[in-house]
Amino acid sequence: MAINLNSHVFAGNPIRSKTPKPHDPLSLSSAFESLKLHLHQNHPPPKSPLFKVLLFKKGCPLVSSSVRGDGAMPSWHLGWMSLADCKGLLGKYGVQLTETSFVFLGSRAEEDVVYWAIDVSVDGGLVPELSSRQLCFVELRALMMATDWADSCVMGELAIAGHARALLEWHKLSRFCGHCGDKTVPKEAGRMKQCSNELCKKSVYPRLDPVVIMLVIDRENDRALLGRQPQFPPRMWSCLAGFIEPGESLEEAVRREAYEETGIEVGEVVYHSSQPWPVGPSSLPCQLMVGFFAYAKSLDINVDKEELEDARWHSREDVRKALAFSEYKKAQRAAAGKVDQICKGVKKRQRQRSSADNIAKSGELAPMFVPGPFAIAHHLISAWANQDPPTGVETQLKPPGGFVSKL
Ligand SMILES: [Zn+2]
Repeated sequence: MAINLNSHVFAGNPIRSKTPKPHDPLSLSSAFESLKLHLHQNHPPPKSPLFKVLLFKKGCPLVSSSVRGDGAMPSWHLGWMSLADCKGLLGKYGVQLTETSFVFLGSRAEEDVVYWAIDVSVDGGLVPELSSRQLCFVELRALMMATDWADSCVMGELAIAGHARALLEWHKLSRFCGHCGDKTVPKEAGRMKQCSNELCKKSVYPRLDPVVIMLVIDRENDRALLGRQPQFPPRMWSCLAGFIEPGESLEEAVRREAYEETGIEVGEVVYHSSQPWPVGPSSLPCQLMVGFFAYAKSLDINVDKEELEDARWHSREDVRKALAFSEYKKAQRAAAGKVDQICKGVKKRQRQRSSADNIAKSGELAPMFVPGPFAIAHHLISAWANQDPPTGVETQLKPPGGFVSKL
């Protein structure tokens, strides 16, 4: 089985690729002016461009799910609402929308649509009403597991939801100015914030939290170092990873983390690719995973038990077996079934047991497995495992048109 991805999961957002010029109706500034007119002066919603709104609750986007054809895997989609529908629905539950409720996500010229997200925390009847329309708030991580990598449309929707979640969570975490402590207010259609203190007015922009993730390779013996964190499912092994410290280069962070966690000294560090990761801890609205191959200079492992449960060298053959026996498609289908049941209102205890959250239950033939193709770790590991040993790494990293990962 070969998995071809044009970009990592959560990258390749289709509504962010081009930024329209300021006077284009699809631009942030024109769309924001149009939104204000509609909300304050009760202008009818603009016919062109069309405004579509995505609701979020506690970091979960509103989605629907459908099955096309017998035996087909259910497919989820974002539950976009029109501006009028959104205003009417939330108005029923006493939510008065203002322009600062909305976060601009982007636009798509070919469809003449501008996209927005809002965070709704109202309880009451909103959730039952949405569920009567077969719409439901579902965790982004569950959607990630349920996404068919071959479906570029849903991959695009996942990237949009990831971007929206990262922005909305950043809004929650940046309510006060770090300089003077006063409240901040959203500006530029939610794409930045500004301190409300007239004497301060500090501007605050969303930030990424970069994380280095590396596959440490023993070239001489044709092995790769994989680690286990205590919270991993049984038998799962993955790359090492860690945060970058102030004043440190990415390469230095790779070498320091590898040494701190496993006692392995790393020499050459080669960049592979990067992945936005909006499904990490809630205190980090969006991490940027920056992936490397790191070539070991020493081979004796000394695991820091505070950081890792275990770390071991694995032969290329063992890693290839792990990739071949792991049933990622089966786990994906189970996850899609679970999302479908949530959207159809099936109660938790009545849902079919799913191994989606724990791929260890699938691929039982393999003594170990590595994370699925939604994670950059998978691509670092499979890119190495499928290379011709032992070198030639640099020329095979990035084939034109994206990267290919073979199982
Ligand atoms: Zn301030």
